[in-house]
Amino acid sequence: MTQISIAIDGPASSGKSTVAKILAKEFNYIYTDTGAMYRAITYLAIKHHVAFTDEEGLVKLIHHYPLSFVQKPEGQHVLVADQDVTEEIRQPNVTQAVSEVSAHQKVREALVSIQRKIGENGGVVMDGRDIGTAVLPNAEVKIFLVASVTERAQRRYKENIEKGIPTVLETLTQEIQARDHYDSIRKVSPLKQAEDAIRIDTTGKSISEVVQSIKEVIKEKGYLL
Ligand code: C5P
Repeated sequence: MTQISIAIDGPASSGKSTVAKILAKEFNYIYTDTGAMYRAITYLAIKHHVAFTDEEGLVKLIHHYPLSFVQKPEGQHVLVADQDVTEEIRQPNVTQAVSEVSAHQKVREALVSIQRKIGENGGVVMDGRDIGTAVLPNAEVKIFLVASVTERAQRRYKENIEKGIPTVLETLTQEIQARDHYDSIRKVSPLKQAEDAIRIDTTGKSISEVVQSIKEVIKEKGYLL
């Protein structure tokens, strides 16, 4: 069977990783959360006191601490060198700084080359901000997920509370808006819908409805997975 690449982009908390994981599991594809990679570098910068403005220093971290994903029964874990940072990279200090770190051209080049290697043989569902535009421009299926900021903030709020991360809804809404703005105006590979991506508004839709819509897109394009 053909092993295609599925690119899922969109703003913060638009449901990308939730649906990407479900699709990858169902098709037996590799799931790659590229946001987790930018978060891991941001975590390392905080830990090793590398300034978010220090582009070369950030790139050194990428080369010094190899990133990997490990599949565990409860989900995918993110490792830097041998340290499991799955929980650390979701903490507010990382979330607040990640857009600044990800805006550097050399940081993006280093991570994009890793992401392209993961996707080079297809059989991948990759989510992020620039997968359809820059990382996998030849992906057979490109989806751009959007949702109202109110709904996105509420979804993330619920998730954070369940995970025990202290969160104020209003602050979260502002943080999401600020991150989307920063990610959209940066010079290198900004958050943008690829011309050939299918836009799906997930506001008011359940996870299974969104998954279903994506499967229909895949089918309409003639792929049987
Ligand atoms: O997807 P997530 O919200 O975890 O991404 C965290 C941040 O990483 C984004 O706000 C963005 O700054 C950056 N990012 C990016 N390009 C990607 C994925 C994430 O710049 N492909």
